[in-house]
Amino acid sequence: MKSPSSIELSREALRGNLRFLRRVIGPGVQFCSVVKGDAYGHGIRQFVPMAEDCGVRRFAVFDATEAAAVLRARRTDCDVMIMGHIDPQDLPWAVREGIAVWVFDGRRLAAMADAAETVGRPARVHLELETGLHRTGLEGHALAGAIARIRRAGAHVIVEGVCTHLAGAESAANAMRVQEQLRSFVTACADLAAQGIPIGLRHAVCSAAALTLPQTRMDLVRVGIAQFGFWPSTETRIQ
Ligand SMILES: *Cc1c(COP(=O)(O)O)cnc(C)c1O
Repeated sequence: MKSPSSIELSREALRGNLRFLRRVIGPGVQFCSVVKGDAYGHGIRQFVPMAEDCGVRRFAVFDATEAAAVLRARRTDCDVMIMGHIDPQDLPWAVREGIAVWVFDGRRLAAMADAAETVGRPARVHLELETGLHRTGLEGHALAGAIARIRRAGAHVIVEGVCTHLAGAESAANAMRVQEQLRSFVTACADLAAQGIPIGLRHAVCSAAALTLPQTRMDLVRVGIAQFGFWPSTETRIQ
């Protein structure tokens, strides 16, 4: 059976979109291509090599199956990061493959540290901090526990980044909340650094804020929808 619908991908259009994004985002900020949802329906298998051709070397996905798809599709030694779901029994696989994983609870962190010892490769983690979205993220006791576990793990755990999700930057109505989240994130990063935890790359934003709020870009931006030539909202476009 053949579907009557098809989607055509243009390498030149992608190159143009990425060039535009890099120019807006500016130098000194790393670019991470978000390819969750099978590259927003464009196909990880097709999209990842095209993006690599355009110089992209970092990809982020939601779950482990998407990460496996990126590993199969890639032609470079590009970086792969899981921002959301991975079953505990798949963590040793992620560590072995050198996939970076977001950590938002103590159990996952402990499982990664254990996997690193077993596999003989360091676990690459990005600590997700709670900054006011109340979805996932470490704070309070959980964060203190994570810090203790990281210290105990020594070279088995590498904190490659510290992150959060500034939500709702598509709309100016959320500007206050976004500013508060950003302030809370910057403070939490500074606290971690003061406690001797190497924080690596600080990252907080998706397309909307990366395009319109320069102060939120920090060390890395996670760009999904804008790569495909879409503005996150009309408001972002006119800003
Ligand atoms: C989806 C997602 C992004 C990318 O969002 P866009 O609005 O498509 O740029 C960035 N970060 C996280 C955590 C996401 O889930």
